Amino acid sequence: MPETLIKVDLGQSAYENDKVHNRWHPDIPMVATVKPGDDFIVECYDWTGGFIKNNDDASDVRDIDLSIVHFLSGPIRVAGASPGDLLVVDFLDIGAFSHNSWGFNGFFSKKNGGGFLTEHFPQAQKSIWDINGMFTRSRHVPCVEFAGLIHPGLIGCLPSKPLLETWNTRERGLIATNPDRVPGLANPPFGPTAHMGRMSGEARDAAAAEGARTVPPREHGGNCDIKDLSRGARVYFPVYVEGAGLSVGDLHFSQGDGEITFCGAIEMPGWIHMRVDSVIKDGMAKYGIRNPIFKPSKVTPRYQDYLIFEGISVDEHGAQHYLDVNVAYRQACLNAIAYLKNFGYSGAQALSILGTAPVQGHISGVVDVPNSCATLWLPTEIFDFDISPGANGPTRFLDGSIDMPLAPDL
Ligand code: ZN
Repeated sequence: MPETLIKVDLGQSAYENDKVHNRWHPDIPMVATVKPGDDFIVECYDWTGGFIKNNDDASDVRDIDLSIVHFLSGPIRVAGASPGDLLVVDFLDIGAFSHNSWGFNGFFSKKNGGGFLTEHFPQAQKSIWDINGMFTRSRHVPCVEFAGLIHPGLIGCLPSKPLLETWNTRERGLIATNPDRVPGLANPPFGPTAHMGRMSGEARDAAAAEGARTVPPREHGGNCDIKDLSRGARVYFPVYVEGAGLSVGDLHFSQGDGEITFCGAIEMPGWIHMRVDSVIKDGMAKYGIRNPIFKPSKVTPRYQDYLIFEGISVDEHGAQHYLDVNVAYRQACLNAIAYLKNFGYSGAQALSILGTAPVQGHISGVVDVPNSCATLWLPTEIFDFDISPGANGPTRFLDGSIDMPLAPDL
């Protein structure tokens, strides 16, 4: 049995676990040491540290203090890894805890977090997904089942001090362009809810005040939310500090491309079995790498048939945008949601399917001015009924009696 380097107790606050942290800072102490060739298991809280409960009430999604996220396990020192190296990491396996075989998906209130389609879904809602081995179903979203493409939403190495300063400077600059925007343009450091692992005293407080939030993906990887970074993948991480400092969390049982629901995929606590295969000395310069690169798994859910929705850079109000891929993907998603409503799904249920199922998003064209084209690939085989268009029009398979819990804004 590989050693479990980091354990989590879901009955204990993540703040009480000193092998967990929720900010990026080069001074966060390493909690374990491995050497190239070692394999080991790391346990993780869900990204909220257990705040979202398995019930039929979305008020927890509405009320969560988003400055507490993401709870990450680590950092792990890799002997012999130095700044400029590439860390070669294999995801040997990932799973849910047998005593906690469920996950959650939801949409944040526009007033607290928002999300990709927050203008259309401005209030907090959630769905609970039961994990049955490699498959999942939700009591809140009927007639759909799919195999998990299990992956960590968030993984990367500690930043160096200069890299941290670069992040904070550029993100503060963006916030300054519209500081009152709701939701905010970015999330600046916030000391009061920081968990700095084993740091204590004045050094801890100083680091907490400047530790980068874990929300965005950055040069080191971080919160990339790439569904294909799944069990079986091999990742090449840039190293910025002596010993690398690898941290991981935000495990997802499954997610559609874009993680468009923001809260988020099918979020779950669980474990990841990793191997640090090797360290490529000076690999960043040798290969000209400034962001992680990876190879996908040899094992993925096999869905062959898709209904593919197109979207262009004309928004839902008819306004023309210039080659805006974000607008185009939003339209592809809205088109898919409108389509699924024909079968009796609520808009919320349809959105939840797009956020959780192994939906593919593609950037199909970015040169034909003024419109980019994005496509959303919806696997048809995940539904209990046929969603293909036909001469007789759609059949309403659902009567609307089941929907996702909604929490009105206070
Ligand atoms: Zn997540």
